[in-house]
Amino acid sequence: MAKMVISDLPDSAFEGKRVFLRVDFNVPIKDGVISEDYRIRRTIPTIDYLIEKGAKIIVGSHLGRPRGMVIPDLSLRPVSLRLSELLGKPVSFLEYGLNDQVKMVVHELQEGEVILLENLRFHKGETENDPEFSNEIASLADIYVNDAFGTAHRKHASTYGMAFHFDLRLAGFLVNRELKFLTRLRENPDHPYLVIVGGSKIKDKINALKNLLEKADKVLIGGGVAYTFLKAKGVNVGGSITEDEMIDWVRESLKEYEEKIFLPVDHVVSESIEQRKASMVVDQEIPEHFMGFDIGPKTVNLYASEIKGTGSVFWNGPMGVFEVSDFSAGTTHIARAIALATWRGATTVIGGGDTIAAIRKAEVMDSEIVHISTGGGASLEFLGGEELPGVSVLCDKKEQ
Ligand code: ADP
Ligand code: MG
Repeated sequence: MAKMVISDLPDSAFEGKRVFLRVDFNVPIKDGVISEDYRIRRTIPTIDYLIEKGAKIIVGSHLGRPRGMVIPDLSLRPVSLRLSELLGKPVSFLEYGLNDQVKMVVHELQEGEVILLENLRFHKGETENDPEFSNEIASLADIYVNDAFGTAHRKHASTYGMAFHFDLRLAGFLVNRELKFLTRLRENPDHPYLVIVGGSKIKDKINALKNLLEKADKVLIGGGVAYTFLKAKGVNVGGSITEDEMIDWVRESLKEYEEKIFLPVDHVVSESIEQRKASMVVDQEIPEHFMGFDIGPKTVNLYASEIKGTGSVFWNGPMGVFEVSDFSAGTTHIARAIALATWRGATTVIGGGDTIAAIRKAEVMDSEIVHISTGGGASLEFLGGEELPGVSVLCDKKEQ
């Protein structure tokens, strides 16, 4: 069922109304400097639209995992400055919690003004989806808008619980666009439909993987995730990262989907990340004191030739520790192979914070990927067929 979008309401609907806009401004910040602001830029059309329609805009987001504590390094203050730059207008930042002072500032908001609340996860109630906290943030606004696709798979107060306090629960333009592209891939993918999964943890992706193994024509596995699969097959993986609690499930999946699952046939290994100068390429078995940090050149060739002939492809999770240049070649080659597939007419979709950073590093341009999803976990789950709480809670579009 399609969801109601902000542009489905008549222009006057937002005039003078206080809108709570949940966004995902979980951007990388180091020493107060934002290195990657893609997630902020992507919400600008929604905020511009609301400003133009005369709404009073209260923006809320999380940043990192402060676990209910106030952690100065996880403050959204640098984000408020960047947001202000991008919007070309001042953005007030409310550094305190949800006290009377905040309520007063919100009360005095004028049409077209924007404020950003401090990291919502500084409150324990956010991730616990606490009813009292939901009620409290909901009381700040008249209309609820969600443009936080990257967090839509979480049942948190600001992505889920608070929405029930509003009659109008709408998708922003970013969520709408995500749903459009990902629904196409989920319901009607061009075949062959290839899924590429990497990154460090299977556990984060297990539900999605289960479903995608069924739906995709081929699943190419790389990154740290690959070593649990190889170990389950009895291959020596040395000291590479593995998740032993996943081994049984992996073994079953390998049995059931043997012809669909592709695993690395060679690796770039080293004794540790620090010892990268001593790295080398080995075939499938990894020597005792070595760890796999990237897929090797034979695997790159194998995967690239699969990508070349594909109808559609979804990629989440780097093929290696791409942050370290000695271990980034596999990821870079896969990123470029996907860009080439776009030029050959394939529907290419990628998702995940690190995966987006990786395509930037590979100098692949945004226009060389059909859709860059702001969600990693969220897009995986959606493609696997799961309901995302942050989406299901929004109003359905009215039949025309
Ligand atoms: P995304 O953010 O795109 O969803 P993930 O967070 O799942 O991706 O995975 C990215 C992380 O996986 C990176 O930090 C990368 O260093 C790590 N990684 C990839 N391959 C390996 C490996 N072989 N060993 C250890 N970590 C790895
Ligand atoms: Mg990540």
